[in-house]
Amino acid sequence: MQRDTNGRREDYEVREHDVLIIGAGGAGLRAAVAAAEHGLSVGIVTKSLLGKAHTVMAEGGMAAALGNVDPDDSWRQHFMDTMRSGKFINNWRMAEIHAKESPDRVYELEQWGALFNRTPEGKISQRPFGGHTYRRLAHVGDRTGLELIRTMQEKVLATDAKVYMETTVTKLFKKDGRVVGALAYTRESGKFVQFKTKAVVMATGGWGRIFKVTSNSWEGTGDGVVLAYDAGAELVDMEMVQFHPTGMVWPPGVRGLLVTEGVRGEGGLLRNSEGKRYMEKYDPEKMELSTRDVVARANYTEVQEGRGSEHGGVFLDITHLGYDGIMKKLPTMHEQFLKLADIDISKEPMEVFPTVHYTMGGIKVDSETCATNVTGLFAAGECAGGLHGANRLGGNSLSDLLVFGRRAGEGASAYVTESTHSAEVEENEILTEIGRVLEPLEKKEGDESPYLMQQELQEAMMEHANLMRTGDSLEEGLGKILALKDRLPNVKVVGTRLFNPGWHTAQDIRYLIQISEIILRTAILRTERRGAQWRLDFDGPDDELGKINFIVKKDEQGEVGIERREIPPMPEHLSQLFDGKVVDMAGGEKRGAESQF
Ligand SMILES: Cc1cc2nc3c(=O)[nH]c(=O)nc-3n(C[C@H](O)[C@H](O)[C@H](O)COP(=O)(O)OP(=O)(O)OC[C@H]3O[C@@H](n4cnc5c(N)ncnc54)[C@H](O)[C@@H]3O)c2cc1C
Repeated sequence: MQRDTNGRREDYEVREHDVLIIGAGGAGLRAAVAAAEHGLSVGIVTKSLLGKAHTVMAEGGMAAALGNVDPDDSWRQHFMDTMRSGKFINNWRMAEIHAKESPDRVYELEQWGALFNRTPEGKISQRPFGGHTYRRLAHVGDRTGLELIRTMQEKVLATDAKVYMETTVTKLFKKDGRVVGALAYTRESGKFVQFKTKAVVMATGGWGRIFKVTSNSWEGTGDGVVLAYDAGAELVDMEMVQFHPTGMVWPPGVRGLLVTEGVRGEGGLLRNSEGKRYMEKYDPEKMELSTRDVVARANYTEVQEGRGSEHGGVFLDITHLGYDGIMKKLPTMHEQFLKLADIDISKEPMEVFPTVHYTMGGIKVDSETCATNVTGLFAAGECAGGLHGANRLGGNSLSDLLVFGRRAGEGASAYVTESTHSAEVEENEILTEIGRVLEPLEKKEGDESPYLMQQELQEAMMEHANLMRTGDSLEEGLGKILALKDRLPNVKVVGTRLFNPGWHTAQDIRYLIQISEIILRTAILRTERRGAQWRLDFDGPDDELGKINFIVKKDEQGEVGIERREIPPMPEHLSQLFDGKVVDMAGGEKRGAESQF
């Protein structure tokens, strides 16, 4: 039993690990394997169950220039495609590492037991995806994430790593400027756990749940980004949120559920209510396989201009594959539409519309080690930013998780091996945090429901930070989010600590509000059209803004501090790949290479 200065008495468990990994998706599990291979004690915390992260939902595949189907493919081409899609504000070194190391990570996964689809010659098969010059996505039908997680899970369980399931981290503890631990509560019992550690790897995924229509599950509330921000970490490219062009639209209960890009990869055609293949208007060269930002805006525009379907979508047709072809390549999609919408996609087209899918921005990391600017804190996967710039290519996330998950595990291990500091924190700090987490349950006053606030927030973000934005609308959205922030102290929930979803939502709402504020503030400052940031009040990209990232850091008053930081020049061995055109990063190459829609 413990006591803080306010007289609170509270039990909590104490656990100690050399490396604490927060998140059990692909990035967290790959980091865990790397750290465990160094003989370190590893703890993995996940707020859901092992095997339940977003990674398991990934369908289409993982991008790696294996050259199995198109022998001309190379890391150089993969790098160029990634940079072009990211509109050159990517961290070019991360893009280089990712393109070079993805093939090794895919083969490693295969050696660890992943069963990929094969070519007739028995090599790992690769499918085309939007924005990739060559057929590049290694896949397992449309269940690639499931196979990745299954394989990684088996690998992790063969190590001594300890997994803490249904355990939510609420705070990182620091001592002498270093991260030395975290506080978490178990969702089932409401009991608290203090983790003592020498290094933390943040791998908590994205924050699609700040929008009403999203492909993300309940886990996508961006906790890790806010925990890192609160601990002093820098964030990058937070204005960049990806709308996937094809989410389900009907019935209403499944609106936003993903329709994998694998459908277009396998030859799916987009048509409007007039039966026209409209992509020829938006990107006549790449058509349906243009990058996600372009196809999402095309789908949106067709509906806005009155050429949409009965339920406010466009049509995606894969019937040419026939039942057998669909069952071989896209079995999950067949089942999804049949069970949820009573539609047999081998006979009828699907109705689809853009859905919030992925967050390009995140915690800023060192490209080699995934270290953040906060000593002892590392980050990888969707919660980290930099690799994808203004728009992620499909398939580049799964390979990102493996490449940078491994690097984060290696980086944290190297740091831990050299560290001798103590992981003790003041008792009072722990109890104060416990008090903060329990406040919505224990307070007498307060009349704000976290559910209603979450709903208001999601609607505000949908209205004001959608895939087409204006300065006025973003400002109005910011006003609404700040008003919600003011209401935060009045959040109150009823019930006990025992598996209480209201109490969990009361924790989430703080993250959702903080991230929304950051997105809106950075989106207001990026006064141009670039990738996912499409400002209707500007008619194109801005050369100066093409040379910078917006870096966010909590300032001394606890407010959102934003800095414009120059992107370092690309070294010659990379810039020459673009024939010198990339020298003017926001100019000729960009204008020549992409649709201006
Ligand atoms: C439907 C769908 C299909 C996709 N298809 C593809 C595809 O085909 N190819 C591709 O490249 N990408 C795809 N993506 C994107 C890709 O799956 C994700 O970007 C990626 O899986 C994120 O992995 P991650 O390890 O960073 O995080 P996640 O897999 O999201 O895992 C996050 C982990 O953090 C935990 N966590 C979060 N907050 C806390 C907290 N406070 N305390 C403790 N634990 C916490 C969660 O419980 C979870 O274990 C898809 C995404 C979706 C939603």
